[in-house]
Amino acid sequence: MEKYYTADAIIIKGISYGEGHRIFTFYGKEEGKFSAVARGVKKPKSKLNGHLQLGNRCDLQLIHGKSLDTVSQAVAKETYPHLRESASLYFYASYFLELLNDFVAERVVDPALFQLLDTVLKGLAEKEPAKLTRFFELKLLALSGYQPDFHRCAVCGEEIKAGFLNPRFHGIICEKCGNGYEITPKTLFALNYLADTETRLVRRLKTDDATDQLMGKVTKMLIEHSLEKKVKSLAILNRDQL
Ligand SMILES: [Zn+2]
Repeated sequence: MEKYYTADAIIIKGISYGEGHRIFTFYGKEEGKFSAVARGVKKPKSKLNGHLQLGNRCDLQLIHGKSLDTVSQAVAKETYPHLRESASLYFYASYFLELLNDFVAERVVDPALFQLLDTVLKGLAEKEPAKLTRFFELKLLALSGYQPDFHRCAVCGEEIKAGFLNPRFHGIICEKCGNGYEITPKTLFALNYLADTETRLVRRLKTDDATDQLMGKVTKMLIEHSLEKKVKSLAILNRDQL
């Protein structure tokens, strides 16, 4: 095995480690999720510190280690500057990073997921962060193999235009199969639109507040179903604001 390797990766998590070190979790274009330590990064003279910030996309040089790899060089090539200018956008970005971290296993390579993360972080510059969040959640579910079919009842498979959200099922159910939180036709239409569209077209979807809130309820339940645990951010952030 070569001692050194390089990666094009986005920083999805960072934790303090020992005296002045940090362990970062990266999502790499060709590596998937992996962790590496940046030694001395918290010391004032560190050249890495300015580059190794949460959410940055970096060109990395790493050294293989027995238990943990080491970051030897890092150059941020995309800092998504709009995220540093708005606390609210930074929250959205943090949620994206944490959700991705929770969904993916180590070293599972998925260039489509890397591309998705890069485009949604860029997309936060263009307003409509709540819709972009629903979009990211639905795409992440789909790429992870958990995409529900919003055209059909999750129990009997009948075609639906409206239905109910019920925590027992991963998806929307029809009135014959049970009840729960009522999901309007407008909401199902909007969810279908976001599930099938691409990042740049997210803003074209026009919705009212009620629909936005219902979409948030649906994706939250689907995510919780999929992770079988509450994502920490869901509790921290006021989801009505997301
Ligand atoms: Zn049904």
